Amino acid sequence: MSKSIEFKNGQLIVPDQPVIPFIEGDGIGKDITEPSQRVINAAVRAAYGDSKKIVWKEVLAGKKAFELTGTYMPDETLEAFQNYLVGIKGPLETPVGDGIRSLNVALRQTLDLYVCLRPIRWFKGVPSPIRYPELVDMHIFRENTEDIYAGIEFMTGTEKAIRFRDFLINEMGVEVIRFPETSSFGVKPVSKEGSVRLIKAAIQYAIVRELPSVTIVHKGNIMKFTEGAFKNWGYDLAENEFADQTFTWRQFQQIEKELGKNEAKASLYAAKALGKVIIKDVITDAFLQESLLHPFDHSVIATLNLNGDYISDQLAAMVGGIGISPGANINYNSGFAIFEATHGTAPNIAGTGKANPGSLILSGAMLLEYLGWYEAAEHVYDAMEHTFSKRKVTSDLFSMMEGATLLSTSDFADEIIRNIH
Ligand code: NAD
Repeated sequence: MSKSIEFKNGQLIVPDQPVIPFIEGDGIGKDITEPSQRVINAAVRAAYGDSKKIVWKEVLAGKKAFELTGTYMPDETLEAFQNYLVGIKGPLETPVGDGIRSLNVALRQTLDLYVCLRPIRWFKGVPSPIRYPELVDMHIFRENTEDIYAGIEFMTGTEKAIRFRDFLINEMGVEVIRFPETSSFGVKPVSKEGSVRLIKAAIQYAIVRELPSVTIVHKGNIMKFTEGAFKNWGYDLAENEFADQTFTWRQFQQIEKELGKNEAKASLYAAKALGKVIIKDVITDAFLQESLLHPFDHSVIATLNLNGDYISDQLAAMVGGIGISPGANINYNSGFAIFEATHGTAPNIAGTGKANPGSLILSGAMLLEYLGWYEAAEHVYDAMEHTFSKRKVTSDLFSMMEGATLLSTSDFADEIIRNIH
């Protein structure tokens, strides 16, 4: 019998037939949703026979919702995600017009989905611009509620910008505004609570999956009290709450200062031998270079919102691009999670059969892992790799692969299903 997933004592309780609400999405959402569900259903069947099954429940959002109900995000949709805890969505167009919030932001804010999780891995056969794509295995934890997502900006010339400027100059003694008469202003809040819960989720993820490191990526050399504080709160958290499971770069530097480099290195090797997660930090611009040159040095990445935006796109491009980049928005304290294709609605190819359903399929595999249905998720990963290695691809990858066979959205999904053993 179908049932809702529950969250008790920090654990998801998943019935054998969980109800999973889904939003079809706008544009290519219609093209990729049904084929993706077919793949997920086949993987669950291959793993568990008839003993487990996902019960898909469509909920409305975006253009389809507007046409049927007169509103882009009906209350019932938000309620469904609240009631059923875990859901999945296709891309949604941001409606143009005053007073209409981004639908994605509405979902994230209502459920306080503070982690944007993007795993970055390479599938054999997929064209990549880097030399050793097989060594890429990164997991981005991007903060999802603060920093630029808080969206505090004042346009130059407006009353608020003038009042804000005058407050800064007259009351805060700020002297560094180069062109005060024509400046717009942006403010980015970064809190200790918000930073700690994000970095904590990243560290716990690394511990549970036995991953070697967490890299805190920040621009703390310039923005000391926001990005710099993010880094320091991360180190404090690791050293205070995860002392037995982690070793930090800050501890390394402290030992080096007090006892010398050899002693610090010995501590680092001992920590690695004990399977401790190494917590380190890298400045954002250096990380963009580092991750291209030495991707194998980074495993889990914890970062603020704007940095995470840049990093996600670069890393996705390293392993095949937007068509196969899955994502999830998660609140690990309440269990709420919405898995999603990370690309947009791709209106230029909607309805043509050219869309790659890979991003949504892999988001579905992440959902299976979140439910603890790891065997089913493995079936998806294996079958997808098998399909790529046979050079059967959709049009986004076709032009980059020699000797490839071009498949439509639906045929690509069918080919993956054929490769599920
Ligand atoms: P986009 O991701 O829709 O498209 C960028 C390019 O990538 C296009 O050339 C498109 O054809 C291609 N592409 C995207 N997904 C693909 C896939 N699965 N297979 C093959 N090719 C694919 O970005 P955009 O054009 O900037 O945005 C279009 C709309 O999507 C906007 O309204 C935007 O607000 C919205 N959007 C929604 C989300 C979301 O719901 N999470 C994310 C990004 C953008």
